[in-house]
Amino acid sequence: MPFKCDCCGCCCRSLKKVPALVDFDRGDGVCVHLQDDNLCAIYDHRPEICNVELMYERFFSSVYTREEFFRLNEKQCEKIKNWF
Ligand code: SF4
Ligand code: SF4
Repeated sequence: MPFKCDCCGCCCRSLKKVPALVDFDRGDGVCVHLQDDNLCAIYDHRPEICNVELMYERFFSSVYTREEFFRLNEKQCEKIKNWF
């Protein structure tokens, strides 16, 4: 089961809260790679922190089940959406 992203783009507009992506911030917290259609212009080559499935495989598979990790991320998505 893949991670469910509805492509709201809110996480890509919240880079002020993501130190790892400071170089992607166009100055107002929005990623320089976020397109007008809310999709990522470098999706296939996006940083690993932007890739939930890759982050799970690389860093969290020994800590959480895939379902648990995705659920935690989905909860975070809901929090981020409330910032807008
Ligand atoms: S906040 Fe969550 S649902 Fe919205 S684009 Fe980011 S990952 Fe997808
Ligand atoms: S690189 Fe792509 S996925 Fe990552 S914050 Fe920027 S637009 Fe979003």
